[in-house]
Amino acid sequence: MNTRHAIKVLLVVLLAAASPSMAWGPVSHIALTYEAGVKSGFPVSQDLIGAYLAGSTEPDVGLDDGMSEDYGTYHSEDYAKAIESVAQRKKSPDREILMARAAGMRSHIAGDSAAHGKAGYAEAKLMFNGSQTGLPKHATNELVTDMIMYDRNKEALKKQSLNFIDVDTMIEVRKEFTRMTGHELANDRDKLKKELLNHKAMALTELSLAHHLSTSDPAKIDQMKAEYSDLNQGASEGNGANQAITRIAERAKPCEDLSNFKTANKGFKIKNYLENSLLAKSMQALERGALKLTKSAAIRDSLQNFAIGKVGEGRNKAFVNFGVNLLNKDLTFKQAVFLAGKATSGYPDDQSQKLACLEIEAEALKAERDKAMAAYNNRPWWKFWLIFTQSDKKKYEQLEAQYQAKLSEIENTRNQIADTEPEIPATDAAYNVAIVECAAEDPVCINVSADLAELQAKAEAAYQKYLAAAAAQDQTKIKEAAQELEDAREKLKAAAKQ
Ligand SMILES: [Zn+2]
Repeated sequence: MNTRHAIKVLLVVLLAAASPSMAWGPVSHIALTYEAGVKSGFPVSQDLIGAYLAGSTEPDVGLDDGMSEDYGTYHSEDYAKAIESVAQRKKSPDREILMARAAGMRSHIAGDSAAHGKAGYAEAKLMFNGSQTGLPKHATNELVTDMIMYDRNKEALKKQSLNFIDVDTMIEVRKEFTRMTGHELANDRDKLKKELLNHKAMALTELSLAHHLSTSDPAKIDQMKAEYSDLNQGASEGNGANQAITRIAERAKPCEDLSNFKTANKGFKIKNYLENSLLAKSMQALERGALKLTKSAAIRDSLQNFAIGKVGEGRNKAFVNFGVNLLNKDLTFKQAVFLAGKATSGYPDDQSQKLACLEIEAEALKAERDKAMAAYNNRPWWKFWLIFTQSDKKKYEQLEAQYQAKLSEIENTRNQIADTEPEIPATDAAYNVAIVECAAEDPVCINVSADLAELQAKAEAAYQKYLAAAAAQDQTKIKEAAQELEDAREKLKAAAKQ
């Protein structure tokens, strides 16, 4: 297993996950379907859950390149009925397996119905208070959600199986669909076979990635969960996991009672796949590669060249970086997000967004520096060669210099932001000038200038009152007028700042 192969594996997932037509990723569909079953009872027997869960991903077959002419077909109740119609011609257990698959496809459609469109979670969810991250929002939300949904069902899913459809049965169903609806479908066997393989590879690779992260870097999964704490409720109009689960429980039904059906043909065990697959091993290889990424220009460049060949758009390149960063244990989730975006699109144009990005970089550098400092200070006696090479000391000093450079960059950016902020006038006369200038030039200011003029008049009146009290040497009135003047000035300052 070499790094290049591991990178290819990750790219398969990331490119497939970048498809914006999906509402939930494949792992989320499996997990939501599973949670609905735990909550309200499974519509099929234990032996048929493999077909039911795999079926819950299958309407998205062919979407791996982002577009599928069959999207509408597979996301329809007519298609589920066509599966059930083909099932009637089959012998047991193929008959029952197909009916369980149809129920799984209904689960998919029900889950999607809670998450499609602008208000759907993948579209509506904003990370880190809507900061510009440089990452494609939809694809990133979908991938992170898949990781979280796997983690929260990890123990249960490991005991389950997946039973995907084969290409010949799929063609039979497609022909049945045409017969039932009159809607013609092209049945290019090679093309469909490739789509099925891609679909399976994507679902399984995402499961591997999720499993790897949740076992090797649980802290990062916890950080994801904290940032996506609205996943159940939804980012808007309740379009989150809870609603999807409720709808699945209501709508994912088979056409006959399958609750006691027994079969040995359950599909393949998720657990075996996670432990033995080439993909699972390549995740480990990739992680080792990713750890070296920051140090090895060769690996980084080969990754980026590879990505550039496959990934056209800048935002997709950022997404590939994000995937690599996810596997880097030295980075927090937040750092993985922001550093991925920055690596492709540079700093955001907005200065305060840039500042946020710099601060995250400084945080990452500080953690690395602290680690290097501890290694240097606690140098074990038997590492005698370090006395001569001082490589641990050099490493620490290098990181310290990088960290200090980042801090001064932060300082510069802060100063630039401060320079561009309007200066608050110090005297009443300066206020008058500022208000007049503002009212004449700035359309926002013109709208509020009436209020400002009123506040200005109040401040002026308070000032006159103060002068009169001072002339009369009336201590009580002086104090009162001084307070009034102070209040009026504060209000004026606040209004002028807006
Ligand atoms: Zn879908």
